Amino acid sequence: MDQLNKTNAPVLENFWMPFTANRQFKATPRLLAAAEGMYYTDIDGHQVLDGTAGLWCCNAGHGRKKIAKAVERQLATLDYAPTFQMGHPIAFDFAAKLAANAPGGPEAKLDRVFFTGSGSESVDTALKIAIAYQRAIGQGTRTRIIGREKGYHGVGFGGISVGGLVNNRRVFPQIPADHMRHTLDVERNAFSKGLPAHGIELADDLERLVQLHGAETIAAVIVEPMSGSAGVVLPPKGYLEKLRATADKHGILLIFDEVITGFGRLGAPFATDYFGVVPDLITTAKGITNGAIPMGAVFASRKIYDGLMVGPEHAIELFHGYTYSGHPVACAAGLATLEIYEEEGLLTRAADLAEYWQEALHSLRGSPNVVDIRNLGLVGAVELVPRAAAPGTRAYDVFVDCFNKGLLIRVTGDIIALSPPLIIERSQIDTIVSTLGDALKRAA
Ligand code: PMP
Repeated sequence: MDQLNKTNAPVLENFWMPFTANRQFKATPRLLAAAEGMYYTDIDGHQVLDGTAGLWCCNAGHGRKKIAKAVERQLATLDYAPTFQMGHPIAFDFAAKLAANAPGGPEAKLDRVFFTGSGSESVDTALKIAIAYQRAIGQGTRTRIIGREKGYHGVGFGGISVGGLVNNRRVFPQIPADHMRHTLDVERNAFSKGLPAHGIELADDLERLVQLHGAETIAAVIVEPMSGSAGVVLPPKGYLEKLRATADKHGILLIFDEVITGFGRLGAPFATDYFGVVPDLITTAKGITNGAIPMGAVFASRKIYDGLMVGPEHAIELFHGYTYSGHPVACAAGLATLEIYEEEGLLTRAADLAEYWQEALHSLRGSPNVVDIRNLGLVGAVELVPRAAAPGTRAYDVFVDCFNKGLLIRVTGDIIALSPPLIIERSQIDTIVSTLGDALKRAA
């Protein structure tokens, strides 16, 4: 691999890196140069097992030729088309394909699809649709959105307003929004396998906020059915059902942010399918194109779409969209991705591996400093006790050590999050667990 060597190392000073301690990174960089299947290769030619599907997005693994070919073909055919009062066939085709498998069942299928360029854009879009819909049905006082502490909904102003991760909020002004308390309850739920038993009562927080503000001020509530960025926080049994019931009782729309859980992560196409709780809007991104081309989509119920298709026919019903909404190249990547998911059964493969994954992860119980292990589908978290003097550094050290030993994990605070590509084999699950276990011992 000639192209992969240090003499090709780039100049580091100009790229202002996102989500990264720039000064620390640039002193000791980790640079990925290539990827294939379950592995990255760094610029020194070392193989790194991908324990995170990139950033929860490369569900079909890396280097998929079918996607590359589809992208190349589309670029040579129609590279771009304007989104203002214009369309192109592939966006309609992709929406129709997504709609055919949209969650919600025959009664409440969420099969109206609005394309965006990312998860953050999907969140902004869903929030605007919710408020616009309420207004269209004569509920114009409903402008407030309820989110959740520690929720992550991207980094747009809409997303940080309804999100509740401290780092994401404290420096910036926000649109007014309220937050339910979060369901993380490590003390009572420590080391539960799958959905935790305790915490359903935290869904009552929605009722509390409705009583506080009045239902007539609230348009929607948004939650990740399973929170990823907060450190893999699972909904207690019955929690999502209770949110749905409370929202219905008060005419509040329910939005599931499925940017991580969409496209097979939990062992069903969507978390909506997995939990059997149907929201009014679903936000997606990431796995929609296997991470290969930036794209997102909002799935809306027909009730919401029809509710907005009113007024004079010449008028734009929802003045919202992006230059890259339904980008032809992204749609081509998305169509190829869906084909791969279908051909390889990847949207349900996590269900087949879930038990093996669960037992493998929980074998780390008893490793030094581990205070909790959580799992669902092909997602997992190993939570470490923070260092008193420097919270958030213990997991980071484990992350660096794992990388040097050929495993990519993700850290958030003192929580290690795992979400491997859905093509993973059992032997690779074993490698993840043994590499991580060794790193935890060395870190102690
Ligand atoms: N919502 C959720 C639940 C996410 O996990 C993320 C990204 N991790 C986003 C929104 C934002 O997506 P993006 O980074 O594509 O804007």
